[in-house]
Amino acid sequence: MTSCEVINPATEEVLRTVEFVDVEGVDDAVARAASAQRTWARLAPADRAAALRSFAAVVDAHIDELAALEVANSGHPIGNAEWEAGHVRDVLQYYAAAPERLSGKQIPVAGGLDVTFNEPLGVVGVITPWNFPMTIAAWGFAPALAAGNAVVLKPAEWTPLTSVRLGELAVEAGLPEGLLSVLPGRGSVVGERFVTHPAVRKVVFTGSTATGTRVMAGAAAQVKRVTLELGGKSANIVFDDCDLEKAAATAPYGVFDNAGQDCCARSRILVQRNVYDRFMELLEPAVKGVVVGDPASRDTEMGPLVSKAHWEKVSSFVPDDAPVAFRGEAPAGRGYWFAPTVLTAQRADRAFTEEIFGPVVTVLPFDDEADAIAIANDTAYGLSGSIWTDNLSRALRVSRAVEAGNLSVNSHSSVRYTTPFGGFKQSGLGRELGPDAPLSFTETKNVFIAVAESIGENS
Ligand code: NAD
Repeated sequence: MTSCEVINPATEEVLRTVEFVDVEGVDDAVARAASAQRTWARLAPADRAAALRSFAAVVDAHIDELAALEVANSGHPIGNAEWEAGHVRDVLQYYAAAPERLSGKQIPVAGGLDVTFNEPLGVVGVITPWNFPMTIAAWGFAPALAAGNAVVLKPAEWTPLTSVRLGELAVEAGLPEGLLSVLPGRGSVVGERFVTHPAVRKVVFTGSTATGTRVMAGAAAQVKRVTLELGGKSANIVFDDCDLEKAAATAPYGVFDNAGQDCCARSRILVQRNVYDRFMELLEPAVKGVVVGDPASRDTEMGPLVSKAHWEKVSSFVPDDAPVAFRGEAPAGRGYWFAPTVLTAQRADRAFTEEIFGPVVTVLPFDDEADAIAIANDTAYGLSGSIWTDNLSRALRVSRAVEAGNLSVNSHSSVRYTTPFGGFKQSGLGRELGPDAPLSFTETKNVFIAVAESIGENS
């Protein structure tokens, strides 16, 4: 058993020391989960639904506590952290309806009755990144539990506190002991054990494309199911016929939300050449107006980066000779602060091609619709993106042509728990959220029941 110090990124103070689980600890938790799952799956659907609703109610009663923990552990602004805790409640509430709606099908066949059942997989391993610890955990555990599975959850090393608390709240809400186990630990220990343990039947992984590739390769050895939510380098495409003031005013929030530590960050702004100069004039005050500071303050729009190591990685994209167009403000002194930064990088530059995962955006002009689509798709990623135009036909044409899983027209929204979320290409595999998510935690079983021929006309 090892331990890890959890640091407040706004102050660099040690918040707590968290014990890390080892391989034996994972194996114990998986055994308990397998036993709890058998009991859970046998419960009446209405009872599983009620248990999930009571979990949602307990989360609702702890929104302030969960939000305060996320402010301290992740540096999320308080308003965002409250939204995230409320989102966990809503996701649980939404999937609480699923146990009574996983109805399977009755398929017409000759000679009998054919029905399908949506059988739970068993134990599901959920591995989360550090950028949105609570919400991403809930996207995995809520539909998995609703479909009759048990869950072992490994939070990221830097940000385990809200996940650990959610595990405690599940027990407080009356979920069977061991049904949802939160196991803080190293990716190379706990995460890898989820991949190699034969009783873990599916791994839901959210994180970098490099680690996701490794998880998928490891899972192949057991033909283990995977859902992968990976990196992004999304485009925000601004056409000359859009509301340019609104596009410029909102662009910073499409990329700097959560200090740019967002897989959906629109980190490549593509602007039609004939409005490029005007767009940059409008963008500058918008970027300088982003309020960066104490995450506990209600006025704050952007907090610090999550850790010193991540601060160094983001800084490497802005060397002294970087093509900086302009920057916003950030506090000096202790804390991993990084000012919102706008670069006029070229197409081949590292800042334009790699996921930075910080408050750094690149802006590039384009000539016409075909050019915009070609630049937007010139990446291995395909998670998200925005299209700004007042021409409906163009909006639809470009939406269909951009290779990404989540697009928004004249807005930067990506995530609603009622709609599917996930990536094209190397941004992932499978979809989370939306009405079908519980099905991705089931196997379809087909059962044919032969019906005997009638033995007499009136019998
Ligand atoms: P990461 O890949 O370093 O780590 C993610 C998780 O995987 C952590 O819990 C880590 O401990 C674990 N892990 C590390 N090595 C492992 C291994 N060998 N086997 C199993 N698990 C292992 O990613 P990160 O730095 O925490 O997160 C940032 C990345 O996540 C970015 O690329 C971002 O785009 C991506 N992300 C994607 C989405 C999405 O929904 N598509 C959402 C959030 C973040």
